[in-house]
Amino acid sequence: MGLPGSGKGTQGKILSEKLMIPHLSTGDIFRKMASADNEDSRLLSDYMISGKLVPSDLVNKIVRKVLLSGDYNDGCILDGYPRNLKQAEYFIENIDTQISSVFFEVGDEIVVKRIMGRYSCQSCGAIYNKYFDSLKIDGVCDNCRSTEFTSRSDDDEKTVLARIKEYKTETLPLVEYYKRKGRFFTVNAGGTKEEVIKEISLIAKKI
Ligand code: AMP
Repeated sequence: MGLPGSGKGTQGKILSEKLMIPHLSTGDIFRKMASADNEDSRLLSDYMISGKLVPSDLVNKIVRKVLLSGDYNDGCILDGYPRNLKQAEYFIENIDTQISSVFFEVGDEIVVKRIMGRYSCQSCGAIYNKYFDSLKIDGVCDNCRSTEFTSRSDDDEKTVLARIKEYKTETLPLVEYYKRKGRFFTVNAGGTKEEVIKEISLIAKKI
């Protein structure tokens, strides 16, 4: 859990490599679905561009189907789900698993700047930031050497502010909810990528 831009995606991928379990991001699933050309994908895209959450009944159905596909039997890093109490309750009732939750704590000003500078490699998905991360070779992905980059269409200022608002009303209550369930970890997500990686590595040993 954490504000958009708090580093869940970047750190989730790192944690997934450390723990050798797959990274599953509902945002990635929806971006892929929204890129198709049909009525459902346009509807999905409208939710995302407006900064609103996709309706939970649909999200729950999709996550359940993906999680039960067999690829996640040894666990996974769930990034961006559950996103509200309805999803959290559904998850506990319908998916038989043990959960550890990680809260990425960071202020609004930092995430707005991070999001506005965010871009990713079109080929491998590695995430960079024009304000905080310079590429080792200008215009070339450090990870896969591709030269094609892209930005998320919901990373403009108006959408970002709406996403922050939605986060505070829908997702923030989950922090108290998961604290009560135990196996809860907080990361100071306002530091540099390297500082957060250090914290995440310590958490990985306890999970
Ligand atoms: P993210 O990449 O996690 O920031 O998600 C991007 C967008 O996808 C969000 O602003 C929502 O519109 C949608 N989305 C992702 N995960 C969920 C979820 N668990 N529930 C509802 N909407 C979601």
